[in-house]
Amino acid sequence: MTTIDREGLKFSDAKLIIGLEVHVQLKTESKLFCGCSTQFGSNPNTQTCPVCTGMPGTLPVLNEKALALSIKTGLALNCEIARYTKWDRKNYFYPDLPKGYQISQFDKPVCGEGFVEVKIPKSDEPARKIRLERAHLEEDAGKSVHDESGKGGVSKIDLNRTGTPLLEIVTKPDIRSAEEAKAFLTELKLILGYVDVSDCNMQEGSLRCDANVNLHFTDGEEAVATPIVEIKNLNSFRAAERAITHEARRQFKEFRETGETIDDAPKQTRGWDDSAQKTTPQREKELSADYRYFPDPDLIAVVISEQEIEDAKSSLGDLPAALRETLQSEYGLNDYDSDVIVSAGREMVDYFRAVADGSGKPGKPNGKMASNWVGQEVMRYLNENAATIEAYPVAADAMAELLARVTAGEVDQTRGKEVLAEMLASGCDVQEAFDKLGIVKVDSSDLDALCQQLIEENPAVIEEIKGGKVKAVGSLIGKARKINPNVNPGVLRESILKIIGL
Ligand SMILES: [Zn+2]
Repeated sequence: MTTIDREGLKFSDAKLIIGLEVHVQLKTESKLFCGCSTQFGSNPNTQTCPVCTGMPGTLPVLNEKALALSIKTGLALNCEIARYTKWDRKNYFYPDLPKGYQISQFDKPVCGEGFVEVKIPKSDEPARKIRLERAHLEEDAGKSVHDESGKGGVSKIDLNRTGTPLLEIVTKPDIRSAEEAKAFLTELKLILGYVDVSDCNMQEGSLRCDANVNLHFTDGEEAVATPIVEIKNLNSFRAAERAITHEARRQFKEFRETGETIDDAPKQTRGWDDSAQKTTPQREKELSADYRYFPDPDLIAVVISEQEIEDAKSSLGDLPAALRETLQSEYGLNDYDSDVIVSAGREMVDYFRAVADGSGKPGKPNGKMASNWVGQEVMRYLNENAATIEAYPVAADAMAELLARVTAGEVDQTRGKEVLAEMLASGCDVQEAFDKLGIVKVDSSDLDALCQQLIEENPAVIEEIKGGKVKAVGSLIGKARKINPNVNPGVLRESILKIIGL
């Protein structure tokens, strides 16, 4: 029993220790050890065969695509890639696992240690490296479908999911807050999307997460930890964040009441009840000895060649962290703006770069303006239409031309947005939109005449300006645009001030 003064403890004295296990369904068309389809949403038990239903006498055959995707993922996560990896049987009995064991990897996982750099959004804390313990390949289990009528009906088993390839990514206990856990999951999902190894659809279970949580307290010489709790099957980032927050508070309260430490109680498994917003106890956690792992005698070990690793490396492309860096150093964006573009995916980054390069001068991209237009105008359209950048009607070169013409002063920003709206509405090009809206350059004699007219019609405003309130000129701009919408506000402002001798 601890000598820490439990009564005097505050929640802020607790150091939160979190490790995540993330199951990622790899993007293969067939299962890990048979040719059955992995397509989601088919009728129950229509995508099964004697191999994945565990019939006696059947033999598994490795899907090489799944292995290649695992190697690619490992490289994207800075992992050591094993040159020798093998298959093990993880034995447990559950109705959705007809073989009575799952083919997994025990001591020779395909990916060894790695890390993901994580920054909590909108915080001043610098990015932190969350280390990865390993990532191993395994087959998924089936799904139990329980009668939810409450009348005690039968439970059914759907084995379509059995044998689907999963990569289990395990972090070290490096995560220190629920927010950081969410930021880690967000960055992980982004990376997986960039390297195109999983569709990461959480509703369909392609990305699932368990969180191991406990608290550490230190008092002078003594350091104690609360028993570790594994929260199972968190199927949204919000659920993960809330479950961890709740569990930390629960453990704090329990420690204050009982003083129970990690030495007094085994690891426990709890589930997250999203409607009640709390964690609830499940079965006692099995230790790895309970699974009686042993090498699968039906599968030979896999030797991964340098060539395979090199091929995977060259297929990675630029990753999110490197792209954020490029957008900051080469395009002059700040932290926040570069993250907005990069978080929207690789195609958005390509689009942004094409717009910034095409609307700027050689060697001097128009980064900030492109970021404003892409981050606001383009993304708003995509949100409103639930579309991705591939479906955006204005191609990058047309957008670049429009921005170049705004920069050259042919139209101001406000008018430029009307041009964009016209292009979106009718699918026309930039010049056609200019023509339709009647946008022509206002020549200097027209501009002078317009200024004279405004000065004569607004003597009170002119007096104000002359009296030192130069801002009042703004009220004339609106009037000017009603007379001639092509007038450039900046040019008009200067002309008026010049004419009245300021
Ligand atoms: Zn099968």
